[in-house]
Amino acid sequence: MKLWEKNIRRVVPYVPGEQPNNPNMVKLNTNENPYPPAPGVEKVLKGMDTKRLRLYPDPTIKLLVESLAQFYHLGNDQVFVGVGSDDVLAMAFMTFYNSEKKILFPDVTYSFYPVWSKLFQIPYDTPALDKDFRIVKEDYYKDNGGVVIANPNAPTSIYEDLSVIEDIIMNNPDVIVIIDEAYIDFAGRSAVELISRYDNLLVVQTFSKSRSMAGMRIGYAMGQPQLIKALNDVKYSFNSYTMNLTAIECGVEAVKDTEYFKQGIQKIIATREKSEEKLKALGFSFLKSGTNFIFATHCKVPAKAIFEALRSNNIYVRYFNLPRIDKYLRITIGTEEEMNRLIKFLQTFLP
Ligand SMILES: *Cc1c(COP(=O)(O)O)cnc(C)c1O
Repeated sequence: MKLWEKNIRRVVPYVPGEQPNNPNMVKLNTNENPYPPAPGVEKVLKGMDTKRLRLYPDPTIKLLVESLAQFYHLGNDQVFVGVGSDDVLAMAFMTFYNSEKKILFPDVTYSFYPVWSKLFQIPYDTPALDKDFRIVKEDYYKDNGGVVIANPNAPTSIYEDLSVIEDIIMNNPDVIVIIDEAYIDFAGRSAVELISRYDNLLVVQTFSKSRSMAGMRIGYAMGQPQLIKALNDVKYSFNSYTMNLTAIECGVEAVKDTEYFKQGIQKIIATREKSEEKLKALGFSFLKSGTNFIFATHCKVPAKAIFEALRSNNIYVRYFNLPRIDKYLRITIGTEEEMNRLIKFLQTFLP
């Protein structure tokens, strides 16, 4: 081994769901939204004067910070914007988790958390969800270096009541509690309303799911000004121009169109409920979903076999070959037509 090889930061990277691009495929594997972004986004892109790309974008991302602050009734100094919530979460791990103590997140949750922990050399522990995949809040009351909770959780789809989240925040006044709300718009009350009362709370959300903009890469964090300043200080020590000009302006248009946003969410929820009924009739059961996906298991046929059969028929869902969840499929809610194709195939495939 060469001497320099010893000093390489070795990491096992996160593996995102596959991004096939076959004509006629039904893609229900990475929780993207099947509908287009708000119409204003298209206007921005079509009207873009490319001469403007000559200049650097605004490093403070002022326009988008202001529109998000207004939408959530927060101050402009309470919002941090980044390149997708993955970028925001990574930045938050780096900024807030620097003690020797272990940070805590559930054993079954977003599989990026352990990857960032290892990348930044943050020790961590993973309290087990209970047998129904619910968070045991008391597990997070012990001494720790920070807490990360996805609510609704992924890939379980379960939304925990805000009172559970508040208890965890309240019992951890000495560390930063990150609530990853990637799916909150499909669920219920957000922890944003707790921000004014807890200086240790950071809420992270994304444009990738409910706002149909996974390809644009926009995520944001909300918290008290001291936390937002700390995140900005780290960002400016890394890369001043994280958000490109086009993404900033498209983001502003998406936030403006509240009517389109609300309607889009209602459409997904309606399709989710219909799909649940049809899947139930086919012998599936699932956890109560507060997201744009269903976490389903079949009474007879192993999840892996269903996954593979679907895949060879150009229908993509997600299967995790991991302890505790290897009997489940994570199925993103697509359009009515896409869900019908899924159901139709399952009707012929299942015994
Ligand atoms: C999708 C997802 C993210 C990442 O979203 P991006 O904004 O696209 O980076 C973060 N957390 C959870 C739990 C997710 O499901």
